[in-house]
Amino acid sequence: MFRIDHLGIAVSDLRQARSFYELLGMPVGTEEVIEQEQVRTVMIQAGESRIELLEPTSPDSVIGRFIDRRGEGMHHVALHVDDIEDVFAEMKYAGMRLVSDELKIGAGGHLYFFVHPSSTGGVLVEICQNAEADVAV
Ligand code: ZN
Repeated sequence: MFRIDHLGIAVSDLRQARSFYELLGMPVGTEEVIEQEQVRTVMIQAGESRIELLEPTSPDSVIGRFIDRRGEGMHHVALHVDDIEDVFAEMKYAGMRLVSDELKIGAGGHLYFFVHPSSTGGVLVEICQNAEADVAV
């Protein structure tokens, strides 16, 4: 079962960015620092999907460099799959350009990997599984 799990948006000021969604009345989760990605993040529930705000904790991080080059804005689209290990193997076999050589484990224990925009029509795509577990409440 595929669905859009979340949209990742790079922001330079998380507090300011989240206030827009709070004004809309959307349920904004608890802020969390993900050390391995050098990012402070918060999830906002939007029906079955979510919006992920990403603020860099270091200018040298992936998100910090993204904002430096291209400014704030859409960073990635995350698709939820039920069989991430199969999908990962298929993508590798098909020669898709993957950002990492192995599956990564996120803060909530979910699995994920990124597919490079050159293989997806210009959008960084995150494939993830069991992301429900990391919904901050
Ligand atoms: Zn994400």
